[in-house]
Amino acid sequence: MLWRFSFFLGGQLLGMGVGWWQADAWGVAAGAAVAAWIWFFLDLWRGARVLRWIRTGEMSKAPALQGVWGEAVERTRRLVRRQEVKAQESQNRLDDILAALQASPNGVVLLDKEGRIEWCNAMAAAHFGFDARRDELQSIRNLVRDPEFSAYYAAQDFSADVVLEGRGGTPSRPVRISVQLHPYGDGRSLLLSRDVTALEQADAMRRDFVANVSHEIRTPLTVLMGFVETLQTLPLVAQERARYLDLMAQQAARMHSVVQDLLTLSRLEGSPLPGVREWHPLQTLLHSCEEEGRALSLLVTRDQARPHEWSFPAPESVVGEIAGSMKELQSALSNLISNAVRYTPAGGRIAVQWHLLADGRGVFSVRDTGPGIASEHLPRLTERFYRIDRSRSRETGGTGLGLAIVKHVVQRHGAVLEISSVLGQGSTFSVCFPADRLRTAHALKP
Ligand code: ADP
Repeated sequence: MLWRFSFFLGGQLLGMGVGWWQADAWGVAAGAAVAAWIWFFLDLWRGARVLRWIRTGEMSKAPALQGVWGEAVERTRRLVRRQEVKAQESQNRLDDILAALQASPNGVVLLDKEGRIEWCNAMAAAHFGFDARRDELQSIRNLVRDPEFSAYYAAQDFSADVVLEGRGGTPSRPVRISVQLHPYGDGRSLLLSRDVTALEQADAMRRDFVANVSHEIRTPLTVLMGFVETLQTLPLVAQERARYLDLMAQQAARMHSVVQDLLTLSRLEGSPLPGVREWHPLQTLLHSCEEEGRALSLLVTRDQARPHEWSFPAPESVVGEIAGSMKELQSALSNLISNAVRYTPAGGRIAVQWHLLADGRGVFSVRDTGPGIASEHLPRLTERFYRIDRSRSRETGGTGLGLAIVKHVVQRHGAVLEISSVLGQGSTFSVCFPADRLRTAHALKP
């Protein structure tokens, strides 16, 4: 400011000096006036340059000025720079937040006061079939036409979610999404969507499972209670009594098997995976499976004219060791043999085999000449309580859980269960063990 005043004063003195030199006292006044006008126009011109620069907004083309206007230019430049840095920081933060929302496994839609889409992430676009760009500022009510959603939106009670049919599903595998609105700020709302297909499926499976278990237990229990009542109310002769007690024992055994298998399944689900450090001789494993199979076969065919025809691998041909849980492996492999025994009529052939593949994997298989299984049943055989013929399974003491247990054990050992069958000709159940769970006699040598 001082400099500015000095400049003005200097101009005046110069004007006055020149005026005095030219025309005495009048000259002094005229000189001062001319100097003031020149100073004024110069100042106006400098101010106009600054204003023009601010208007164009091109901060890099700042006019080179001294004095007050120069300082004004410099300060404006710094202020704008600071604002630019702040704006850039805000933009970066916004980009980060949007990128995080974009990475969310849930659908996120930001709605304005009128329920129009301000922004949505890719997951929401997939759930609702939106086009993130095209549908911007479209009303959510016009885009999501499901009657459940319209009713939910109209009720304005967003304390719970609503489950809708999502886009991208097929008739056999519909996609279900849970949608909930969360109001915030000044009348805006956040709409969150979540794929609940798997959850709903698990829920349905759990319900089916509970219904199945109840049914499996209730049936023998009802029969058992009927016998108890008969024994309590009717004066029976000793022979009848004994027969009834026999039947009761059968029903109790059936319930016991179901409970036992259910416990096995839950133990398998809850226990850690069998390690690869416990090695067991394959020969011992197959030998105990053979003994169990033969004993069951004798029992099943004791009243028949002909027993089963068996073929087992010769003990010396089974070499090496297998890693995992001996108990689980034995129960799974014996289960396959026991199924073959139970479903193959007396006189039929059952062949158990073990062989190593060239890549080091090992295959255990049980082939029978039983009734075989129609191809439509094959994919469902390992489901819990799935049976082709309920009465046949029950007659042979089945629970419908055997193959579910086998599948579990097999998976826990990194193996694969394969079933092939031709109706009327027989079935083959094979378990293919990975090479890293097997070691041959050769590898065992020090
Ligand atoms: P279950 O206790 O009823 O035998 P599983 O889970 O072991 O239950 O077997 C499921 C169904 O698969 C059986 O009910 C039976 O219909 C069929 N199945 C299993 N093994 C054989 C087999 N070797 N031959 C024919 N059908 C079989």
